[in-house]
Amino acid sequence: MIISMKPDATQEQIDHVCDRIREFGYKVHSIQGEERVVIGVIGMGDVSACLEAIEVAPGVASAVRISSPFKFVSKEFKPQRSRIPVNGGSIGGDEFIVMAGPCSVESEQQIMEAAEFVASVGGKILRGGAFKPRTSPYDFQGMELEGLKLLAKARAATGLSIVTEVMSEQDVSLISEYADILQVGARNMQNFALLKTLGRSPRPILLKRGMSSTIKELLMSAEYITAHGNPNVILCERGIRTFETATRNTCDISAVPVLNELTHLPVLIDPSHAAGRQSIVPPLCRAAVAVGADGLIVEVHPCPEKAKSDGAQSLNFPQFRSMMQELKPYLKIWKEARSAQSTAAAG
Ligand code: PEP
Ligand code: MN
Repeated sequence: MIISMKPDATQEQIDHVCDRIREFGYKVHSIQGEERVVIGVIGMGDVSACLEAIEVAPGVASAVRISSPFKFVSKEFKPQRSRIPVNGGSIGGDEFIVMAGPCSVESEQQIMEAAEFVASVGGKILRGGAFKPRTSPYDFQGMELEGLKLLAKARAATGLSIVTEVMSEQDVSLISEYADILQVGARNMQNFALLKTLGRSPRPILLKRGMSSTIKELLMSAEYITAHGNPNVILCERGIRTFETATRNTCDISAVPVLNELTHLPVLIDPSHAAGRQSIVPPLCRAAVAVGADGLIVEVHPCPEKAKSDGAQSLNFPQFRSMMQELKPYLKIWKEARSAQSTAAAG
C-alpha cells in the first residue's frame, strides 16, 4: 500500500497516519520524499479496512494498493528511476557505469594490474571474486579473506569502488567491510536466507538473474532485499539457459526494456557470462548501451590464458580498450536519450 500525503501535510499528520497504520497491525516500511511525503506500508491479508480509514485521515492525498506482486521495486511504487549511491557516485543516473575486472582475484600482481588498467580506460568499479561459486569442488574456490584484502588495496591505489560476490549469510558482514557493492551470483538469486540478511546490509546489492529464472522471479528476489530494509538494489542480466549451445548462456537483451517498464531499479548487462567467449563480448557491450541498460559488468584479465576461472570469456587489455573505444558513439546517444528522459520526467 502507498500513501501519498498532501504537499502541505504537517509532521503531526504524517505521524498520525503512521500510528493508524500500526494500529491496523501493518508495518511502515519507508517514508520518502521532501515536497510530498510518500509512505510505504507492508501488510499481509486484506488491507481494505486500513486503506479506507487512511484515505480520510487529515493530510492524506491518496492511499492505493500496489497490485503487482513485487511492491517496493515496482514502478507503481516509484515511477522515477532509482539512483543507487556508491562512494559519492551513483548507478542509475545520467552516467553509464562500467564495472570490470577479473572473474577471480588470483594474486596481488594480477588484481593491481587489472585495477590500474580498468581505471585508466574509464572503468568506475572493479570486479573480482574472492569467494567463488564453482561447479566443481575441485576447481579454484577463491582467495577468500586474502582476496578481499587485495581488493581493498586495489581500491586504495586506484580510487575504484569494489564489487565482489557474497555466497553465504555468514560472510555478509566480513565482505561488507571490504566491498562497496555486494554481488549475489546467479546461483544464489533465490537463496532467500541470504537475501533477507542482505536486506540488513548497509551496502548496495548487485543481484544477478538466476540462469533459469524469469524476470518476475528476479524482481521478487529484489523485493526480498528491499522488504527487509535495503532499497539499494542493482539488477543484472547475465544470460539465461536456453536450448542454444552456441553461447554459454543466451543474453536476454529484452530483459532490459522489460525491467525498465516494471521497476525503478537500475539494470546492468554482464556480457561475459552470457557469451562465454571473448569475441561475443564487445558486440553485447554495444547492445547493452543501445538498449538502455545503466551499465556493464565485464570480465577482463591481464592474461586470460592463465586465468584460474572464466579465462575464455575474459577480455585481455587491448581487447577491453578497443571495446571501450567502440562504445563511445553509442554512449553519446545514450547520454542524449537519458537526459531527454530525465527532462521529461522532471517536467
Ligand atoms: C561471476 O561474476 O564471476 C559469476 C560467477 O557470475 P554468475 O553468478 O553470473 O555466474
Ligand atoms: Mn566469472
